[in-house]
Amino acid sequence: MLRIAITALAMPSTCKSPACKSSVPSALAEQGLCILHFTLSLEHACSDMRRETVLGNAPQDRQKEIIGFIGENGERLARVATSGLPLTDDLKARVLSTFLTLMNLRENLDRASMRSPFGRSGVMR
Ligand SMILES: [Zn+2]
Repeated sequence: MLRIAITALAMPSTCKSPACKSSVPSALAEQGLCILHFTLSLEHACSDMRRETVLGNAPQDRQKEIIGFIGENGERLARVATSGLPLTDDLKARVLSTFLTLMNLRENLDRASMRSPFGRSGVMR
């Protein structure tokens, strides 16, 4: 266990996504993904969860789990994006669009569970 940790520190690991040779930023060591593939995997997970919650009949526990997922990964994404790593403009745009996906999923959850009469139009005045 200790040996593995030391090896991981000694040399930057490579993204586990097939054919990707980008290195893994330390904030994403647990995921083993580069920033690009981390955002892609988040987008994928979000679209699955969205499908799961869109009908508003996901159990309460599952909704809490999803809210936890959004918070945790939003923070992780913010941390890696502001850690001073050089990011291309494309990658910055991708990070922002992933934030948007997370925010929209969160908003959808609230709408589905609240059944707000304002939910459809989004106008609250
Ligand atoms: Zn990658």
